Amino acid sequence: LTEQFYCQGCGVPIQTEDKEQAGFVPASALEHETVICQRCFRLKNYNEVQDVPYTDDDFLQMISQIGETNSLIVKMIDIFDFNGSFIRGLHRLTGNNRVIIIGNKVDLLPKSTNLNRVIQWIKKEAADLGVTVQDVYLISAKTGQGFDQVKQAIDFHRQGQDVYVVGSTNVGKSTFINYLINDSVGTKDAITTSYFPGTTLGFIDIPLDQHSSLYDTPGVVNRGQLTHYLAKEDVKYITPNKEIKPRVYQLNSQQTLYIGGLARFDFIKGERQSFTCYFPNKIELHRTKLEKADQLYQDHLGGLLTPPSQATADQYPNLVEQTIKVSGDRIDLVFPGLGWIALSGEPATIAVHSPADVPVSKRKAII
Ligand code: GDP
Repeated sequence: LTEQFYCQGCGVPIQTEDKEQAGFVPASALEHETVICQRCFRLKNYNEVQDVPYTDDDFLQMISQIGETNSLIVKMIDIFDFNGSFIRGLHRLTGNNRVIIIGNKVDLLPKSTNLNRVIQWIKKEAADLGVTVQDVYLISAKTGQGFDQVKQAIDFHRQGQDVYVVGSTNVGKSTFINYLINDSVGTKDAITTSYFPGTTLGFIDIPLDQHSSLYDTPGVVNRGQLTHYLAKEDVKYITPNKEIKPRVYQLNSQQTLYIGGLARFDFIKGERQSFTCYFPNKIELHRTKLEKADQLYQDHLGGLLTPPSQATADQYPNLVEQTIKVSGDRIDLVFPGLGWIALSGEPATIAVHSPADVPVSKRKAII
């Protein structure tokens, strides 16, 4: 490009190199009189919004502007990746606005899951990060489960004000927004993208009534997302598309489980007991002796221990160890972006290993 073009729809600088990034248009489209980016094009022609990732900086700048409005903030998270999909710093930047959380991908939880406990867990995690939420709703963008309820909840909580929907990439936000778009006034023209001053971010504006709108904000890329460290093929591989099936392991102390080559679980001390693993069905789990675990990883990461695939194994971050002692309570050890291991409640000393930016956490068992 010699001359810099800007999208007539959302103001983003136009580029022709990367389909996945903001402002993409095919080179041939530059000959048209009005140039609009692919995202605005899809919105205009198919009533469908596409997500493009933004960096933390752009995003934080944008959020700080939301903080100056009086509005309801709807935060979407992936219930399989609370840590990775929760945008940090949100509480500092959203002002005194009310927040509700929508947890997506509920269709992947085993049927026996206690959804109330999932909601309690999300509330607690949010509170620990300094965000007080009005309420939490669980949906499936895939099946449409919970959509009606969320729509009603938004109407109730917004008290006549504007609504901003925020979320990191991959949480399923576009699917939900597309539903709202098609469900709203219905006319294509009613939906516009608007340009937020000081940023290059296009917001999708979905009118709610004559005085207020629901805004879709671009998805933010979050360092705590495991998918960050993986190639596209690997991401596809670990993205669950079916209800997760539990896999039960009876382990003796001094045994290790590898979750592909992505994370590791050592049963250090305790009586023989069962560990129930909830990970995408396609990820293989490998059991080995603790004393052999390091060597196995060195020799077989990217091969037997996959994903990551051979091609990306070199770039996968080192695993960092964290020791966890439990007794009495039935808890889950949550591996962000992957799944969780339910402990039996027997006393046990565990060591978990995961990339430094993707730490394992504890919660009350949800099953
Ligand atoms: P966005 O980046 O937030 O807009 O997320 P997308 O709507 O593009 O979804 C990201 C990925 O998650 C895609 O592979 C979707 O198929 C998948 N996905 C989104 N919502 C759901 C859901 O409710 N259930 C399941 N199983 N997969 C989902």
